[in-house]
Amino acid sequence: MNPTPSPALLTTLVFSLALLLYVAVKFWLASRQMRAVAAHRAAVPAEFAGTIGLAAHQRAADYTIAKLRFGLLELLLAAAVLLGWTLLGGLDALNGALLGAVGPRPLAQPLALLVVFALVNGAIDIPGALYHTFVIEQRFGFNTMSWRLWLIDLLKTALVSTVIGVPLAALVLWLMQATGTLWWLWTWGAWMGFSLLMLVLYPTVIAPLFNRFEPLRDDALTERVTRLMARCGFAAQGLFVMDGSRRSAHANAYFTGFGAAKRVVFFDTLLQQLSPPEVEAVLAHELGHFRHRHIVKRIAVLFAVSLAGLALLGWLAERPWFYSGLGVTPNLPPQMGGAVPNHALALLLFMLVVPVFSFFLSPLMAALSRRHEFEADAYAVRQASAQDLGNALVKLYKDNASTLTPDPLYVRFYYSHPPASERIARLGARVLPV
Ligand SMILES: [Zn+2]
Repeated sequence: MNPTPSPALLTTLVFSLALLLYVAVKFWLASRQMRAVAAHRAAVPAEFAGTIGLAAHQRAADYTIAKLRFGLLELLLAAAVLLGWTLLGGLDALNGALLGAVGPRPLAQPLALLVVFALVNGAIDIPGALYHTFVIEQRFGFNTMSWRLWLIDLLKTALVSTVIGVPLAALVLWLMQATGTLWWLWTWGAWMGFSLLMLVLYPTVIAPLFNRFEPLRDDALTERVTRLMARCGFAAQGLFVMDGSRRSAHANAYFTGFGAAKRVVFFDTLLQQLSPPEVEAVLAHELGHFRHRHIVKRIAVLFAVSLAGLALLGWLAERPWFYSGLGVTPNLPPQMGGAVPNHALALLLFMLVVPVFSFFLSPLMAALSRRHEFEADAYAVRQASAQDLGNALVKLYKDNASTLTPDPLYVRFYYSHPPASERIARLGARVLPV
């Protein structure tokens, strides 16, 4: 017997163990969160007792647990699909079938592989998305979407993804073939250019395909908001109200884009739920993100992570064991008469496998995001009223049925925003009856 395992076998082993660990840790975290929420279901936490009723508190608990339960089912399905594509031979079979159907054409076959893969994966996601919207969100009174709108959204998404995704995929495949061993550097440049373009195109062109954005009309609120922006040194432009209520009762506000495309978007549901001083405090928080350059910092992190990822892919794509260890027979190399390069296979395997490993870094990204939220809150307190921001947070937690009693470890992995009690304590606000 050979005493050292082959690199391919080692790859299979490492991937299998990582996947097992990934599923186990996610299961463990979700069950911790369910236990933490269930353990506090009987009583509203003391600091919120005068503000949030028992019925609302229990509704939030039930909603949180329903989403977690369904998340576990989706996790098992995703793990099965991942195994199906890789070790069980799905991607290998699809590649072989398309070699037969399209022929050994060096650009068309890999492009067809990317497109068919995206179609199959998109179709697999549909039942889960339907269940989430029309069963869970419906049961808790959040869904305001009709079947018709859901279907129109699906068709629009498919159309936009095709118009943007197919040329981008063709460009990446072409760069991978045409630019030699440093293709990953070229691809990184193209990918980053595309990301910056999307930062401008998304708020101005794509989002308006799905929602109506109207300038903020409420005169008293506009005046209040304009004063705040002047105080903070922002030109008072780009304030929009989005018809979020078309799809969901959840409320939100966000700051998007950069340069001339930057804008503040209020969901109409947010304006219905909050008083003008509370809206002002929420906007001050959003301006805090901008003042602290959080968007630019995020982009810088994205650039660095993408470069590291593509450099790794550039190296892996040359190793035969990367393919065979993950259940794919690589296409023949040119010196053996092969006409179709392995680029699309390498890209797909990489996209499938990386999340299993990068998940273990998610506490780092989540911690960075929570730190940014605290910084934005601190800025808001200097520019507007801490008490109004505290009141707004309590209202939003209540109306969105977010749990007030999360598990601390679950928070570390998943929470982009600090839990309500921590944020309110840090603000120095009191929890008042709303
Ligand atoms: Zn924020």
